[in-house]
Amino acid sequence: MDEKLSECVRGIPRLDNDQDRGGGEITRQTNETSIPRNETWRELLVLLAAQKYKKFMEQELIKIKNDASSLIIAAEHEAELNAIKLDFTGRSGKLTQLVKEVKNIPEDRRPEIGKLANEILRSVEELIVSRAQELTGRKRAQLRKMVFDTTRPGIKPHIGHLHTMSQVLRDVVDVFKTLGFQAADGPEIETDHYNFEVLNIPQDHPSRDTQQTLYLDTRGSHATPGEIILRTQTSAMQGRIMEKAKPPLRVIVPGKNFRYEQVDASHSFEFWQVEGFLVDRDVALTDLFGTIDYVLRKLMDKRIKIKFATTNFPFVEPGVDTYIECTVCGGKGCSFCKMSGWSEIMPAGMIHPNVLKAVGYDPQKISGFAFAIGLSRLVTLTYQMDDLRLLTNPDLRILEQF
Ligand SMILES: [Zn+2]
Repeated sequence: MDEKLSECVRGIPRLDNDQDRGGGEITRQTNETSIPRNETWRELLVLLAAQKYKKFMEQELIKIKNDASSLIIAAEHEAELNAIKLDFTGRSGKLTQLVKEVKNIPEDRRPEIGKLANEILRSVEELIVSRAQELTGRKRAQLRKMVFDTTRPGIKPHIGHLHTMSQVLRDVVDVFKTLGFQAADGPEIETDHYNFEVLNIPQDHPSRDTQQTLYLDTRGSHATPGEIILRTQTSAMQGRIMEKAKPPLRVIVPGKNFRYEQVDASHSFEFWQVEGFLVDRDVALTDLFGTIDYVLRKLMDKRIKIKFATTNFPFVEPGVDTYIECTVCGGKGCSFCKMSGWSEIMPAGMIHPNVLKAVGYDPQKISGFAFAIGLSRLVTLTYQMDDLRLLTNPDLRILEQF
């Protein structure tokens, strides 16, 4: 560099790394805080940006603290306070997010701003807690001031009651318990074997026509087509129980049956029955009559008129049908009793020897009787309902009458 150029640049601060070599004198003349001696322009810009960012962070933190404080102090309800808490210090809260930003500040300035951020976070949290305590205290004080009249009548809750079916079923089970019967439960999805075969009703037996059966579609399963059905009678449990247990047996089986039937006032595709049977030595038909008579008079009315008629069911020999005088019309004749004045309620009979053989009993030594109470019909007759369909109607105005 010649003399003239040296003169020109004298007095101008040099900002590159040559300062150490040629500009030492110049740097000493400048203010150290404004332009650090060893910084390049790039470093200087970074430095200025960092300072600006730090300042921005400080301002933001203080602004958020002020906003949060004023809202917390103004909060009048716990729910309101919880919402503010979530808004500022929740996982995605404004203050939480800002505290997370501290890590982006250059390392040398991070402790300072980090400390400030943590202090602000703590102070906001403390303020929330103290406001919550204030609000709770105020609420308690208000409650203490309230006059509570313990003598005022309360609001009576609506208490329901058992469905009429359940009420009658419990009565039936109770009556049979006094006679030493046990109650059992069985599957509604049954096999043709237990529903028919064991009960002396082989394939193509005409009595199957009277039990319009609902067959389950078993395609894709291992079951033989037509083997799986919805049981048409709770008698299906006779075979299942007698196969496993030895006499003497006294069992009732309450449950639902299903038949593909036209629905009318006294018939339904779904109906409740209570199957019952007794097996022992020397059981006679008169035991059956005595049992039915006792049970029906206990369940309904001592004075109720009962009549037996002979009938034929393949699983009993002899078979009897039990009728009671129609309680809907008092025996005069109505649509429920099909104008006969009588209602069939309990088919029964002495268990057929073939059934006893099918379950491995010796009919020479063991005898027994079986019956099935049409529970749905018993309920309608007990409460003088003229339509079986009322039992499955979910209208509470109907159910609350009984
Ligand atoms: Zn009638």
